[in-house]
Amino acid sequence: MNKTKGFQRMTKQRRIILEVLRNTTSHPTADWIYERVKEKIPNISLGTVYRNLKTLKEMGEIMELNYGSSFSRFDGNPKDHYHFVCEKCGKVYDVNMPVDETLNEKASQATGYKVYYHRCEFHGLCKECSSPD
Ligand code: ZN
Ligand code: MN
Repeated sequence: MNKTKGFQRMTKQRRIILEVLRNTTSHPTADWIYERVKEKIPNISLGTVYRNLKTLKEMGEIMELNYGSSFSRFDGNPKDHYHFVCEKCGKVYDVNMPVDETLNEKASQATGYKVYYHRCEFHGLCKECSSPD
């Protein structure tokens, strides 16, 4: 998480983007967010949505999740939490378990580096994808 919050204002555009993100648990892509935001601000461009997402991330309001694919997903919950990625349908779920703070210290001891936080993602099959049909 970005700990150095900039001096950015919460504009109307940003507030609406944030609202869209906070009202879904699906960890959507920028394109998905753009389609929803367009319903409220019809003349907004995809580029503007991207720029505002970047700013909201810098403000510490949202998280960007990058799984090495060509596009990022966004999370309206900026607090540290773990994710589960389904290998079949590609959905990203929140994992309701406490973040292991001791890992930061262990990684710090192993490397001698300052560790601020860690990210953890679990991979497998979600309930829908692992049921027979
Ligand atoms: Zn699945
Ligand atoms: Mn999440």
